[in-house]
Amino acid sequence: MSTQNAYATPAADAKLAPFSIERRTPGPDDVKIDILYCGVCHSDIHQARNEWGNSVFPMVPGHEIVGRITEVGAHVTNFKVGDLAGVGCFVDSCRTCAACEAGEEQFCSTGMVGTYNGQEKDGSPTYGGYSTDIVVDQKYTLHVSEKLDIKGVAPLLCAGITTYSPLRHWKVGKGQKVAVVGLGGLGHMAVKFAVSFGAEVTVLSTSAGKEADARKLGAHQFAITKDAAQMKELQGKFDFILNTISAQHDYNEYLNLLTLNGTMVVVGVPPQPSLVAAFSLIFGRKSLAGSLIGGIRETQEMLDYCAEHNITSDVEMIDIKDINEAYERMLKNDVKYRFVIDLVSLKN
Ligand code: NAP
Ligand code: ZN
Ligand code: ZN
Repeated sequence: MSTQNAYATPAADAKLAPFSIERRTPGPDDVKIDILYCGVCHSDIHQARNEWGNSVFPMVPGHEIVGRITEVGAHVTNFKVGDLAGVGCFVDSCRTCAACEAGEEQFCSTGMVGTYNGQEKDGSPTYGGYSTDIVVDQKYTLHVSEKLDIKGVAPLLCAGITTYSPLRHWKVGKGQKVAVVGLGGLGHMAVKFAVSFGAEVTVLSTSAGKEADARKLGAHQFAITKDAAQMKELQGKFDFILNTISAQHDYNEYLNLLTLNGTMVVVGVPPQPSLVAAFSLIFGRKSLAGSLIGGIRETQEMLDYCAEHNITSDVEMIDIKDINEAYERMLKNDVKYRFVIDLVSLKN
């Protein structure tokens, strides 16, 4: 075991503060990673504040982890000391169910082991990337290219794969009109991927101040969802909508924007449910679906695609001591477009 610096929250209504955690000594299949950067996902806020009702405290959040390997176990063949590596939202799963065998470990029938707010198979709690190092089985560790700025790679481990996976699954590309709802961490990656796949992309936002950024990210159109006239004009216009909104909202307003046979995929996870009217679906034979991160194989595919196409997240760097303020800013939709913690700030 080794003792490490981390930041944890002791309870749903408390702030994050310095905390000590124990990491296991690497086993034969494990790698130990010196964490360099960790992105701040809105799921960190939902869970730190127990908004989904499944939180275990103390909690060390963080599942957008990039760092360098400092130790490898005797059976590790895929990685060597000094390699860049990434860890996303889960660090283990049953490995034998149909989903695991298909490489979609996020849908493991016994439940994936979350990178934090989870439980290892021996019952010990998992702690995430707001810490100096992490020990992970090589099977659940990703290769990270030396070609990209790794500060902007960290958010790919959640925001990247969560948007890449549904765009691929629903075969979004050339000739399709796509709307991305919510321009935050997930939304800005969705715009980059959808544009890269050849779709015509519209950003639907509550923040008028984000229009210029949306266009810089590659979006072709921008509309303000609070403006009833703009929403009316967009009715029936989109083949595919990726909904990344983190707070309570009305799904029907967005379903109305789909064209015949259109699909809205929900990736945002507001704590409160939304009522869906049958009329929002039956006229136009519309589909409402959801998507959860992505498996290890597809996450590696996404990282390789980003290295090839020079895609990274737009980041605002913070020290770990600024994490509570970063949460408050995210809740005001004020981040451009992902906070990333420089873990040097936890190492002294
Ligand atoms: P984020 O950076 O905070 O972005 C969320 C965006 O949603 C905001 O920037 C804002 O965009 C929009 N928004 C916020 N409140 C709104 C409201 N009341 N009405 C309408 N729009 C609103 O969050 P994120 O990290 O991208 O995460 C987004 C959601 O996805 C969270 O719920 C998170 O837990 C979830 N998530 C799901 C998965 C998955 O696997 N399905 C993975 C990761 C995260 P505008 O300013 O443009 O309006
Ligand atoms: Zn996340
Ligand atoms: Zn499984």
